[in-house]
Amino acid sequence: MRKFGIYFTMVLMITILLPTVIVRTFKFVPRGNSVVGESLQENIPIVKEEKKEEVKEEIPVKISNKYDNVKVYNTRTEKVEELGLEDYIKGVVAAEMPGEFHIEALKAQAVAARTYAISRTLRYSEGHPAHPSAPICTGIHCQAYLSLEQLSQIHGDKWIENYWGKIEEAVDGTRGLGIFYDGEITEPMYHSTSGGQTEDIKDVYSSDVPYLKSVLSPNEEGAPKFKNLITLTTDEFIQTIKGKYPEAKIDRDNIAEKIKLIEKTSTGRVKRIAIDGNLLDGSELRDLFGLNSTNFKISLDNKLNIIEIETYGYGHGIGMSQWGANGMGKEGSNYQEILKHYYTGVEIKPLQ
Ligand SMILES: [Zn+2]
Repeated sequence: MRKFGIYFTMVLMITILLPTVIVRTFKFVPRGNSVVGESLQENIPIVKEEKKEEVKEEIPVKISNKYDNVKVYNTRTEKVEELGLEDYIKGVVAAEMPGEFHIEALKAQAVAARTYAISRTLRYSEGHPAHPSAPICTGIHCQAYLSLEQLSQIHGDKWIENYWGKIEEAVDGTRGLGIFYDGEITEPMYHSTSGGQTEDIKDVYSSDVPYLKSVLSPNEEGAPKFKNLITLTTDEFIQTIKGKYPEAKIDRDNIAEKIKLIEKTSTGRVKRIAIDGNLLDGSELRDLFGLNSTNFKISLDNKLNIIEIETYGYGHGIGMSQWGANGMGKEGSNYQEILKHYYTGVEIKPLQ
């Protein structure tokens, strides 16, 4: 009976955790950043015939250039490259989303990636603290980018033949479009798989962003990382915990009492747990056990001395789910519908 009691408690307790992981290290800066607003304002071309007004015409041209090219820090070569925006977006779509995905999902990815690149460029015009020589980088820290040459090396010529045209179509078909909220450019986060429901950013970071709210994300079942199960012996589990918290007085007998779920996010991901008095974020536990997300539950089989960690989704869960976007595309939604589903209250319009 006692064993059953422990098992029950464990399952209850652990059905639980929430992730807080951040695949893309993202720092939210509150909306209303004047840099963004002003730039967009200035971007309206003013065509006047008077000689006096000619000076004003130079401003939109200058801003326009800002949107045509992006300065990108290449994490592989450690050099800064100046790339045409649309060419850069093609390399991001190809790196961030499988070429097999539905064309409308690829288009949604193109618009999200373009918007993300421009909002970062505007915000970090003097360089990002993590890479001061450029506002964005080619790593997952910002958003992954691969050149055509790299794609060819990684996937082979057949892949290029099959999918490059489709990726070009997705980017060219949404050329210049961005995602706006209340007239301001957004910073649209995205992730691989939500596990059925996306996360509200305020449950992961302290900031509240009106367009990064939790929404249902059906049709993800085909995603390879929709659900994942890790099985450990109780001793392995304890060893891993002690590797990080050597002081933790945790053993086979007291494990069920020593691990406590403290807080879940509104979507049921693990926000905070306590291990023998040590407070951990769900993301720390995610990192510790290499979990796909903080949407996990832990079950203990005291008889077999086995612990199972079942994880749903992959990534931080904020914004657009790429697998969910693919599912929506297959169900007949277009890219605008996909974006408006995952980014609450936004509009899609040209960047300039
Ligand atoms: Zn970066």
